[in-house]
Amino acid sequence: QPRVFSAMQPTADSLHLGNYLGALRQWVALQEDYDAIYAVVDLHALTVAPDPEALRRRSRITAAQYLAAGVDPERSMLFLQSHVPEHAELAWVLGCLTGFGEASRMTQFKDKSAKQGAEGTTVGLFTYPVLMAADILLYDAQLVPVGEDQRQHLELSRNLAQRLNSRFGDIVTVPEPYIVKDTAKIQDLAEPTAKMSKSGNPSGLIELMDTDKVIAKRIKSAVTDAETEIRYDRENKPGVSNLLAIHSAISGTSIAELEAEFSDKMYGHLKVAVAEVVLDAVAPIRERVTDLMAHPGELDEILAEGARRARVIAGETLARVYDAVGLIPAG
Ligand code: ATP
Ligand code: MG
Repeated sequence: QPRVFSAMQPTADSLHLGNYLGALRQWVALQEDYDAIYAVVDLHALTVAPDPEALRRRSRITAAQYLAAGVDPERSMLFLQSHVPEHAELAWVLGCLTGFGEASRMTQFKDKSAKQGAEGTTVGLFTYPVLMAADILLYDAQLVPVGEDQRQHLELSRNLAQRLNSRFGDIVTVPEPYIVKDTAKIQDLAEPTAKMSKSGNPSGLIELMDTDKVIAKRIKSAVTDAETEIRYDRENKPGVSNLLAIHSAISGTSIAELEAEFSDKMYGHLKVAVAEVVLDAVAPIRERVTDLMAHPGELDEILAEGARRARVIAGETLARVYDAVGLIPAG
């Protein structure tokens, strides 16, 4: 069976609607036809210097959200990145194949480092896309479901895979991005020209773990524009377009149908309708997360079992790469 790999960072206590629509929902669907491997990439989360207790909590609750959304540990592997040391080990080899200039072109690094300032910007944040390439290449994944914001990082993963193969013989699979156009980029509600982001402003976020009341309030306060017309136009009406995209992604109603349905209505009506579909989608996930978090022992056991299975594959790939680049196996 072809293989799919994807992951998210435990950088917040909740995933947001962009993570869900852009990635997690696809993960669940892809389990049907793929050998699926999904990780909580806790090593990546260290790039933002989290409080240790918060990181532990976030790692577990991120895994719980995967399960609550429908990732099935009987069919798919689910684990914490730090439980599989091969990720960090392969990242070193790949880092030695990555040009400094090549890494410097990553736009997400430019954005995040600008936000964190020179003092807060670490080497880890800079090399994050190299670790991400290791995450993917270790499992010979053919397909990587991600949001649009990860396209450039995935291109780097592909380049590194091709470089390994052309220099050292065919040793890894070159991955393809799987980006679902309509849901690939959910924008921030308060600042609709920026992507919704865990590290963004809370007022712009729809978090899966928020209460109905908070979610409804954030949607009600979403930034729109000074016109009154409900029309999809990303360029000139980013806020309204984002609301239409969210509704459409969840309800399955096309944007054109929504435009017709709301043609004689006001922004307030659209917001009420969006809040309704979002709450229907999110509430059952939130309830299941609460149940799962009440039994942390069971959750940890699922993660341990996932790591055991993942290590078998990761170990084989790392041994193949080490050997190809000229490292001598321990006797
Ligand atoms: P951070 O701000 O810490 O980077 P994030 O919100 O970008 O958090 P990640 O853990 O980096 O979340 O990404 C997890 C997955 O969610 C990735 O596949 C990413 O492409 C996707 N994703 C993130 N933000 C969005 C968004 N606004 N719309 C669609 N997909 C998104
Ligand atoms: Mg991100």
